[in-house]
Amino acid sequence: MRLVLLGPPGAGKGTYASRLTVKLGVPHISTGDMVREEIKKQTDLGRKIKEYSDRGALVPDEIIIKLLANRLRKPDCDKGFILDGFPRTISQAEALEKIAKIDLVINLNVPDEIIITRLSNRLVCSKCGAIYNLLTLKPKREGICDKCGGRLYQREDDKPEVIKERLDVYRRQTAPLIEYYNNKGLLRNVSCEDLMTPPNVMVEKIIEIIKETEKGTR
Ligand SMILES: [Zn+2]
Repeated sequence: MRLVLLGPPGAGKGTYASRLTVKLGVPHISTGDMVREEIKKQTDLGRKIKEYSDRGALVPDEIIIKLLANRLRKPDCDKGFILDGFPRTISQAEALEKIAKIDLVINLNVPDEIIITRLSNRLVCSKCGAIYNLLTLKPKREGICDKCGGRLYQREDDKPEVIKERLDVYRRQTAPLIEYYNNKGLLRNVSCEDLMTPPNVMVEKIIEIIKETEKGTR
């Protein structure tokens, strides 16, 4: 199953993807993580990416596509993958089509109020990147990661004033993409109307759709 997860920041893409990857046995590929990893490893590409981000510029699509193409060629992607954070624009979607066939696009519909409340309660582990939420997914010990004992912090862009701006950017950029995939018959919507809906309920909904899709393509 080659799956793309679409949804505004704070829709839960990362959380759902990390659970789906276990249930489906296919890798979770986050372009954001890939970019950060590349910078950390100080590869040629990583150094180039750092130049852009140091200037406050967007990393060009060609670079992301190159990274992604290399990643998707690895053997663990033979059975499929879950793509999170990419594509965000139609031109990215077109570039993606050239390197991989996508079976299904899940569009997470979440109202803005829910996102703002959820993101302003989100904490991230400084060591392993695990995601927590003070409302729905509390760490066992306050401020400490359950998995690795690292310290939890709030990301700069999860502060309420920044979230509104991120949502505006997302809607402007990604709305056409939703239509694009809908026209191709690949899009399925999954809605979350309640802030307290636990992640596993959403994951189950997504898995249902995946099963239906697999039946349909067989
Ligand atoms: Zn951790």
